[in-house]
Amino acid sequence: MIDFRSDTVTRPTAAMRNAMHLAPLGDDVFGEDPTINALEAKTAALFGMEAAIFCPSGTMTNQIAIKCHTQPGDEVICDQLSHIYQYEGGGIAFNSGASVRLLQGNRGRLTAAQVKDGINNPNDIHKPVTSLVSLENTANRGGGSCYDFEEIHRIKAVCQEHNLPLHLDGARLFNALVAKKETPLQYGQVFDSISVCLSKGLGAPVGSVLLGKHDFIRKARRIRKAFGGGMRQAGMLAAAGIYALDNHVERLEQDHQHAQAIAAALVKKDFIGEMLPVETNILIFEVKERFTAPQLSAALKQQNILVTAISPVQMRLVVHLDIQPAMVQQTINAIEHL
Ligand SMILES: *Cc1c(COP(=O)(O)O)cnc(C)c1O
Repeated sequence: MIDFRSDTVTRPTAAMRNAMHLAPLGDDVFGEDPTINALEAKTAALFGMEAAIFCPSGTMTNQIAIKCHTQPGDEVICDQLSHIYQYEGGGIAFNSGASVRLLQGNRGRLTAAQVKDGINNPNDIHKPVTSLVSLENTANRGGGSCYDFEEIHRIKAVCQEHNLPLHLDGARLFNALVAKKETPLQYGQVFDSISVCLSKGLGAPVGSVLLGKHDFIRKARRIRKAFGGGMRQAGMLAAAGIYALDNHVERLEQDHQHAQAIAAALVKKDFIGEMLPVETNILIFEVKERFTAPQLSAALKQQNILVTAISPVQMRLVVHLDIQPAMVQQTINAIEHL
């Protein structure tokens, strides 16, 4: 099967499994797992941030960050398509008792002017207290769209003016860094907290890292325990993350090229409508005329190609580490014959 359903479907490579096998282990709830400590120190240094905490999922790192930054009844500003709102099981309300100000951004990306407009007057007792701004880069439902770093700077200035922390859901931040030739240090200087996934494009089987200041991460450790995310000898998972950071970042460029090649084959077909600009490893496009999205998905499945119909007329493909060049060619051939 050629599986384009998500970049979460990757299996650890032989070299990654070997690193996992060799990892020194301890009890991480006691702070004694040397491999987890090494991953946390490595990631914090990479971003120039004070501290980091390893968690089982990106949902957990985002939800811990939201819990740390807010009080019940507060409001979180984010894009209407953002993962923290759309795909985390109502966690903002469930875990933090916070409400959400959903803004209509451009393919998942907000502007500083929108953020500024979304902040409630703190002296108006009718309104929830705005206490957090959360951005997503790349934006998943924006088709892997990337922020312009200048806009992030402008958003940061608005946050500073209003004394608001700025969180980044960087599940696919490394895709953005590679595509835009940016550095982790740039992001570490601007955000109060950053969540990065090791289990997406980087190809680790499990895990995300949350970054922030010492005090913030200390609080995050308490919340992770309360959320049931305290793990024990999880250094085997952290070892996969260390391996991924050392070996699987630069190669994301190849995924982006593969995505471009598949997009080029698709847009020639009469049954493909509007396609969102392909900036990284995600393709989102409209399906029309001869096929509905589920019908196209079924037709491709017959050729051993798995994709996701995200609505009756919209399809999503995600390229990742386990998509080899030959599979891209096979996919292009299959598309040409449809
Ligand atoms: C995948 C993803 C996450 C985290 O998801 P988990 O499956 O919980 O690791 C967070 N944000 C975005 C944008 C994602 O795509």
